[in-house]
Amino acid sequence: MQAMDSLIEKIKSFEWCWHIEHDIRRYDYWDEKLQEIGKVIKIKKITRLITHFLFIGETIDLIRIPAFFEFDNEGTGFEMFYKDSHTGAKWYMKKKKLGGDNMPRCPKCGKEIDHLKDFSPVWQEYKMTIDENSDAHYEFVDDSLPIDSMNDEYQCPECEEVLFTYADDAIKFLRGETLTKGE
Ligand SMILES: [Zn+2]
Repeated sequence: MQAMDSLIEKIKSFEWCWHIEHDIRRYDYWDEKLQEIGKVIKIKKITRLITHFLFIGETIDLIRIPAFFEFDNEGTGFEMFYKDSHTGAKWYMKKKKLGGDNMPRCPKCGKEIDHLKDFSPVWQEYKMTIDENSDAHYEFVDDSLPIDSMNDEYQCPECEEVLFTYADDAIKFLRGETLTKGE
């Protein structure tokens, strides 16, 4: 949890600056500070609103709620993980479905899986000739020619059952959007 430790360190230093310099610093100073926090957890987008700051990340989202504002987090998936003793600001985190608590389960064996085995049919191309002994001779050329008329097979890495034959279904499953076999 090293990322978590350095995230809290960054947040603490942000809150300390906010506590002592909040009145004298301008927008871009705080923007830079927020970017530093975002960098620790690979944040893609930061939105500053009057009531709160929202960080949208790859694996987690963050919200900073100031002391004067109440955030009803019930049903939102956000959990408070830090409250600053100087500013009273509260920091909430939401883990994204992938890799979080809602890891998809294989509908065949019931195990939690974070990936699928994608078997993609290909044509193998050989150069076919007759050699000096009049025997057929095959020289490998290419194995990267997809067969468009055949679907991939997406297997559970645990039980190797074919769960899906369409990429859309496999993607939805890994995102946690469906928990059953989708055909
Ligand atoms: Zn399985």
